[in-house]
Amino acid sequence: MSRFLSRKLAGLEAYVPGEQPKDKRYIKLNTNESPYPPPKNVVEAIGKAEIEDLRLYSDPECTALKSAIAEQYGVDTENIFISNGSDEILNFAFMAYGDRGAVFPDITYGFYSVFADLYGINAEVMPLKGDFMVDINDYCNKNSLVVIANPNAPTGIALELSEVEKIVSSNPDGIVIIDEAYVDFGAESTVRLTEKYSNLLVVQTYSKSRSMAGARLGYGFANEQIIEDLEKIKYSTNPYNINRLTQIAGTAAIENQAYFDGNCRKIAETREYVKEELRNLGFTVSDSKANFLFAKSDKIGGKELYLSLKERGILIRHFESKRIKDYNRITVGSREEMEIFLKNVGEIIGGKV
Ligand code: PMP
Repeated sequence: MSRFLSRKLAGLEAYVPGEQPKDKRYIKLNTNESPYPPPKNVVEAIGKAEIEDLRLYSDPECTALKSAIAEQYGVDTENIFISNGSDEILNFAFMAYGDRGAVFPDITYGFYSVFADLYGINAEVMPLKGDFMVDINDYCNKNSLVVIANPNAPTGIALELSEVEKIVSSNPDGIVIIDEAYVDFGAESTVRLTEKYSNLLVVQTYSKSRSMAGARLGYGFANEQIIEDLEKIKYSTNPYNINRLTQIAGTAAIENQAYFDGNCRKIAETREYVKEELRNLGFTVSDSKANFLFAKSDKIGGKELYLSLKERGILIRHFESKRIKDYNRITVGSREEMEIFLKNVGEIIGGKV
């Protein structure tokens, strides 16, 4: 840290992303990416002409992409905000709506507490119940910024639509963010509720179900005034936040929803298979509605399993925080990858008996 850094930032603990190793090729089950590539029409949409056009700025309004998303979800373009990964919307929303504090669970996406610190927001951190379930009463009648990942990460557990609606309707004077990064793998989306509630911001991403984490593309749905707020911040920081190639790729992807739906189905099936197999190996595994599983074994610690698998060329995620240090988060890869994963876990655990 230099002596010039603002005092406001000196104590900030930055978010630590999952490893993206370069030393060798791993079976990568640590950052919830899709095991499947983007569809052919996305690859074909970016040719020489599009690359030559990189000399021009991108469309700050993301016109084509916004229209495609609007049509796909049956909403108006005025109700959509497009961002550089969904992290950017979350960033803007914390910046915009955190004045009266923020409420989120103790075990959830790690970026929420980083954003709260970054903007000096008073964070009320609600412990999940013993079974890692969100107690919705903790988030009702807050009227500050309420942030819920649904399904939650890293547990994968989802709330029902009626439960989310209770949270939203009981906070008429505070923004409620529902982070739906993983919603396409089996949970119920709250996008439709944005027509009914002017305090709801629903955030989604191309990074998981749409196989485009590297393109950095996220989007949010909300009432027009909320979208205007977010646009104001965007135009005050980085008007060209979505590069030309990502806008093209994102628009093409929308034309191929059937491909993504098929992938989500496959991933959900593989998830259920791996969950059962892990339970057969004695693991405790939560009922995930996401593209990952959250699991612990009595035979081996979370860190030891992570390190043993890494030695064998398989990466999973381990978190050091106290309440979940015995657990691992395992991204659901292809069936073949998961069979290799299970075989290796079996061997590691077998050696422990
Ligand atoms: N929300 C949750 C719950 C996540 O796990 C992630 C992925 N790390 C994000 C948002 C951000 O994803 P992205 O910026 O790639 O859209």
